[in-house]
Amino acid sequence: MFSRLKGCRVRRQDMSNEVRNVIIIGSGPAGYTAGLYTARAMLNPLMFAGYMSGGQLMLTSDVENFPGYPQGIGGPEMMMDLRAQAERFGLEIQDRNVGSVDFSQRPFKVESEGEEFYADAVIICTGAEAIWLGVEGEEAQKGRGISTCATCDGAFFRDEEIIVIGGGDSAMEEATFLTRFASKVTVIHRRDVFRASKVMYERAANHPKIEIQTFRSVKKWLSDDNGLTGAILEDPRDGSEHEISCTGAFIAIGHKPITQFLEGQVETDDEGYLIHSEHTMTNVAGVFAAGDVVDTRYRQAITAAGQGCAAAIDAERWLEDNLH
Ligand code: NAP
Repeated sequence: MFSRLKGCRVRRQDMSNEVRNVIIIGSGPAGYTAGLYTARAMLNPLMFAGYMSGGQLMLTSDVENFPGYPQGIGGPEMMMDLRAQAERFGLEIQDRNVGSVDFSQRPFKVESEGEEFYADAVIICTGAEAIWLGVEGEEAQKGRGISTCATCDGAFFRDEEIIVIGGGDSAMEEATFLTRFASKVTVIHRRDVFRASKVMYERAANHPKIEIQTFRSVKKWLSDDNGLTGAILEDPRDGSEHEISCTGAFIAIGHKPITQFLEGQVETDDEGYLIHSEHTMTNVAGVFAAGDVVDTRYRQAITAAGQGCAAAIDAERWLEDNLH
């Protein structure tokens, strides 16, 4: 097997000198599954899970569509289970971010907090982060009246009127979740066609506390000294304006891939998503990618986990073929 494989776990202060078989960047279902498989393959993997480990599912309430949980499961709970399962087989986890990488030669260099780490293969599973609207008045209210995470911030808006922006599954899920706290939730969507799955759309649309307004975009946020007071909405068909009152707003208009730290060293599409060249390998031989950082189509926890598994198997085979 691999010459570098045999190394048992090393002490913290020695870690950066060792060349690992595999470094996994990013946690979430793709990262933890890649960690589970590479650990079980005795590749002695090291994961940089990020300061906010667990990815988007840490911000999700109930996951009802991951096979194996007949009653559904909380996103954070599922991520903790995946992490514990991978750790049981020896995945070593650092809860910190990667600042930069150097993939120009092997072993690959991964830098975190000024320390350098080396590996013969890297699996990138950094996922995606929420997009903000970027309209007038938003900056001042970020993390106050305006949020991108209902599970994190919903409870601050007990008995208040809230709006949710977006027409996808995230918007429907956030709106439905927010009915636990809010007196009223209004979903604002810019057209009358919804990307949301039928079941999630109907659950929101039929909820007595939820109103759905179509053909409305946020033009400007309104606030006073006490915080958010509402928004000026615009009808994209004719530009007419409508004011809405609210003290909380949740933006759920999608995500962008977290690939900035790669500084163009791996091929991406125009939006920054990584591209698979051969199976789960990127254009850099020995660098693999899995989950939302590469997936513009499915973006489900189960597809991310499946890709994490595929990337781990691809990395194992690639190491076997290239490291003798
Ligand atoms: P999404 O499906 O891409 O939907 C984004 C929504 O935001 C769309 O309705 C889009 O409108 C709207 N939007 C985008 N940019 C906008 C802007 N600048 N101003 C106003 N509206 C804007 O994203 P998502 O809802 O985050 O879902 C992403 C993926 O995660 C999907 O595959 C989804 O199935 C999955 N997901 C699943 C669950 C679950 O099953 N529990 C929960 C959440 C998410 P247009 O339609 O007009 O473009």
